[in-house]
Amino acid sequence: MKQLFIAGLLALGLAACHTQDSAPAAAASVGPAPTQDTTKTYPVSMLDNTKDPFCGMPASAGMEDTIHWNGKVIGFCSKECKEGFLKDPKGHPVTFK
Ligand SMILES: [Zn+2]
Repeated sequence: MKQLFIAGLLALGLAACHTQDSAPAAAASVGPAPTQDTTKTYPVSMLDNTKDPFCGMPASAGMEDTIHWNGKVIGFCSKECKEGFLKDPKGHPVTFK
């Protein structure tokens, strides 16, 4: 009976060790990776519009966000412009190539 008790304690101890070992490793490997591509722009060649339909900025100035809309790729200079357009697409007609 005493041996069983000791075996149980050992099992508990091993389990505790295991969780303690795995926790720091997971925290180190997960964690948000630093994003360096916030200023990434899409080349005009992959867009179907010639200018940001929301603010009117030419696509050649650098489009940072895109949507697929009615089968076309529309570029926007910023996330704000994309969201503004999506709220009212009819109020901001897209100029296609
Ligand atoms: Zn814009």
